[in-house]
Amino acid sequence: MDYDLVVIGCGAGGLASAVAYAEAVGPQARIAVLERATKEGRGGATRWTSSWFRITSDRQLDPEFVQIMERVSQGQADLDYCRTLAAEVPATFDFLDRHSVPWVYFEQPFANRNSGGGLAMPVPGGVAIVDTLAAVIDDLPEATILYETEATALATDDDGRVTGVHVTGPDGEKVLRAKAVVIACGGFEGAADMLVEHLGPRGPAMPLIAPTLANNQGDGIRLTRPLGGDVAGQFDMFHGEPVDTRSSKPDAVIYGYPFGILVNRQCQRFFDEGQDSFDATFERLGYEIWANQDQEAWFIGEKAILDWPHVADIMLTDQPPVEAETIEDLAQMFSLDPKALAATVGDYNAAIQAGEIDRAIRDGKRTVGIDPPKSNWATPISQGPFIGYPLTTAITFTFGGIRSDARGRVLRKDATAIPGLYAAGEVTGLYYGEYPAGTSVLRALTFGRIAAHEAAAER
Ligand SMILES: Cc1cc2nc3c(=O)[nH]c(=O)nc-3n(C[C@H](O)[C@H](O)[C@H](O)COP(=O)(O)OP(=O)(O)OC[C@H]3O[C@@H](n4cnc5c(N)ncnc54)[C@H](O)[C@@H]3O)c2cc1C
Repeated sequence: MDYDLVVIGCGAGGLASAVAYAEAVGPQARIAVLERATKEGRGGATRWTSSWFRITSDRQLDPEFVQIMERVSQGQADLDYCRTLAAEVPATFDFLDRHSVPWVYFEQPFANRNSGGGLAMPVPGGVAIVDTLAAVIDDLPEATILYETEATALATDDDGRVTGVHVTGPDGEKVLRAKAVVIACGGFEGAADMLVEHLGPRGPAMPLIAPTLANNQGDGIRLTRPLGGDVAGQFDMFHGEPVDTRSSKPDAVIYGYPFGILVNRQCQRFFDEGQDSFDATFERLGYEIWANQDQEAWFIGEKAILDWPHVADIMLTDQPPVEAETIEDLAQMFSLDPKALAATVGDYNAAIQAGEIDRAIRDGKRTVGIDPPKSNWATPISQGPFIGYPLTTAITFTFGGIRSDARGRVLRKDATAIPGLYAAGEVTGLYYGEYPAGTSVLRALTFGRIAAHEAAAER
């Protein structure tokens, strides 16, 4: 089969590039989007994300994003890419509007690290991006989404130009010839061998935060390695989040941990729950639970916090909290040492300083004399009933990937672009040290558009 464009991956990056290509070339463009999953299971990480967008109310990327990336990556992140993202984000929202992807902007009730103060998200989440953009593809006469079809290799000509994709699908193996190819097939969170290689033997022991992540098997790296493709991003780092151990619901994150305490199996606190807003610390907490706490921790608090405005909304689990009238009883329900937990809670309560609590800001209401301290939002855990959630870390995405530039071109180790090959989204390595929350779907959508425009212009 001959196509103008073959896109590998049916998430935000892949669908944005397919739709943007049709916008640029015209409705007769011959486009194939490859999806390893079934139609029902399509959409990769994008399908399950809430997809918070780190933007201001006037649809600009957080104005501090480039600086933050420079700081957290210690200068390793591609700042041209970051500046291009910042410049192009408003056009990404125009694109979403043009294709009727529903999204909202809302003020955040809790302290957060987006300098705009609020957040946006598609409604009801990333699935709106997948379903709306996939419907655009379905309506185009010469475009198609090929389900249960996986890319196994890239075809090239004698000059090293990418000319198509080898695939395996319901009709067996074949080559789809294409004028250009966009790789948008996610990270390597679903590839046990790569997790072992980069995170060590305990890498694959982490649950996936959503089932479709199993399809993201590091194929971007496997596909481009034979072409001399370079890599970028921190391979031994990942974005993981503290989820309710009991829940099998995707994204069962307990974001309300700043409003109680966290303890380990020894009933000791190990993390400053209030060191910053939860969007700034959830990745650090996830890493700590995985790396140093044997993949288990418990949130402990008063039941009354669930009546505080919006707190229940950020406990994303589908399981009710474990509840008891005393801290000792709560400990027993988690098979923790009752005396040890009561002592930790007592020490914490005694260390709380006077001051007003204000969840909308870093209020400085803190502890003194315990280690680790709690730096904000320190309120007593003294009035029953008490609640708890058992936590473990689920992997959300990997940081390492293929190297692409600010034009969405895939680069070789000698920094030249591989002709005919583009990439978007999580398959491209970007983050080092820390992921500034709310930027991953934005970059997938934005560089999907950019890759499509480059491919269309080259055509
Ligand atoms: C639960 C959860 C919450 C998140 N929260 C946020 C958030 O609030 N804000 C934010 O910005 N980001 C968030 N993220 C991260 C974000 O969702 C992803 O980084 C983003 O959606 C990645 O988009 P993508 O198009 O690059 O990859 P994906 O959406 O993962 O798509 C990859 C696609 O490639 C397909 N594929 C893989 N290999 C092959 C192959 N060989 N052949 C054919 N197809 C293949 C997969 O099946 C899939 O369709 C979250 C992620 C999850 C899972």
